Amino acid sequence: MNQYDSEVAEGLLENAGYQVIREHEDEQPERSEGSGDPSAVPRPQDDKKYRGGRSVKHFRIPADIVLMNTCSVRDHAEERVFGRLGMLGHAKKTNPNLIIGLLGCMVEEHRESLFKRFPQLDLMVGTRNIKELPGLIDQVRKNRQQVAKIKQEGISIEYTDLIKRQGKFHAWLPIMTGCNKVCTFCIVPITRGPEVSMPVREVYREASRLAGEGVKWVTLLGQNVNSYRGDASFPELLEQLCQIEGLERISFTTSHPHDATEELFRVIARNPKISRRFHLPLQSGSNRMLKRMKRLHTFEEYREKITQMRKLIPHVSVTTDIIAGFSGETEDDHMATARALEEIRYDGAYIYKYSVRPSTPASKLDDDVPIKVKERRNAELLAIQRRISREINLQTLGRTVEVFVEEVNPKRSGQLLGRTHEEKKVAFSGEKTLLGRFEKVTVQDLHNDTLLGHSLIL
Ligand code: SAH
Repeated sequence: MNQYDSEVAEGLLENAGYQVIREHEDEQPERSEGSGDPSAVPRPQDDKKYRGGRSVKHFRIPADIVLMNTCSVRDHAEERVFGRLGMLGHAKKTNPNLIIGLLGCMVEEHRESLFKRFPQLDLMVGTRNIKELPGLIDQVRKNRQQVAKIKQEGISIEYTDLIKRQGKFHAWLPIMTGCNKVCTFCIVPITRGPEVSMPVREVYREASRLAGEGVKWVTLLGQNVNSYRGDASFPELLEQLCQIEGLERISFTTSHPHDATEELFRVIARNPKISRRFHLPLQSGSNRMLKRMKRLHTFEEYREKITQMRKLIPHVSVTTDIIAGFSGETEDDHMATARALEEIRYDGAYIYKYSVRPSTPASKLDDDVPIKVKERRNAELLAIQRRISREINLQTLGRTVEVFVEEVNPKRSGQLLGRTHEEKKVAFSGEKTLLGRFEKVTVQDLHNDTLLGHSLIL
């Protein structure tokens, strides 16, 4: 979602005459913690000259405006932004014209209080106000006063053809915002508000527009896409989108186990365009913890869903999210999660140490698992999952898989990058002419989670 918002912000700024520089262009963003931070250099029509970088305490800022699109879901992400704000404050001492702005969930969470804590901050734009970004920057430049625009109701999705998509053939497509679940650890209901769905016809129109631009793969986005309610259910929406000519693959993220139904599995099974990867966060294998997290299901009910999914959708790749060291987690609870990983044998898992989020229901519970214990449990679960992912991926060695070819590997010439139908990353040698096509590749080796292979036509 953050990546999508960043792409919209970039498109709007470029349209307003700014030149956008992305920080860390070659780094993969940490999952769900936002994309690279776009910075904008104003580019008046009569002055196309780039003004060069400034270096302050080894922190180079080759821009006159720095915007950070932020995430609040874990403490770590917020700490990084606070650190950056500190560094930018130093930079502002030598360049008082530097404009510093925040977008995204941290704005929704902290609101104007951040202006007091960080006087160097000029601008805060809520998730539902992105469209106003260029005008708000103008306001700051004119008045040199702190400006905040944070709307509390409505939907934060902005479909616009001005969007600056990172991929040519893949696009993010948000279909809903907010969340009505009450998971006790989670800040999303606070920062993104209650669930609001885009109407089916709007999603359909946007997906068709993207297909017309040459996009072949869309990923539908929402905090809990399974509870989409935009005058059709989520499975109905999926079936409609599958009718769009030119659109070859449809993925979605994320799902809550409570709303992942047999009907959905059946729709996926009968529509070959829908991705064969299903991300279904478990969080913990202990029923005691699941209850304390208010996840609305037991481990046994969850396991039953996975069994049903695997029966109905052969070869489906299942991934998950796990929280290590939630409030009250004992060694037995931790062992239950370790057993769950062994039993379910996920293709992959994102494993996070629990961090208390302010104002969440769990912030009233004791954060009683010492950090060292959280770290150990996190590492143990990661080690189990790495082994299992590797065992599963080793089974693909020697096999021929169909790969959707997305881009040239920016780090290795002559190499292409793509994804299988199960959304596993593949790197293989091949010509640029294969971009945007489906190509048969024989898997020869593994590099971490990436399958390495060569194209059959070479
Ligand atoms: N509805 C989204 C939530 C996004 S957060 C989803 O289900 O994917 C993504 C993951 O971050 C969650 O699944 C959870 O595993 C993790 N997470 C959320 N809050 C957390 C917290 N307070 N501490 C640690 N991890 C957390």
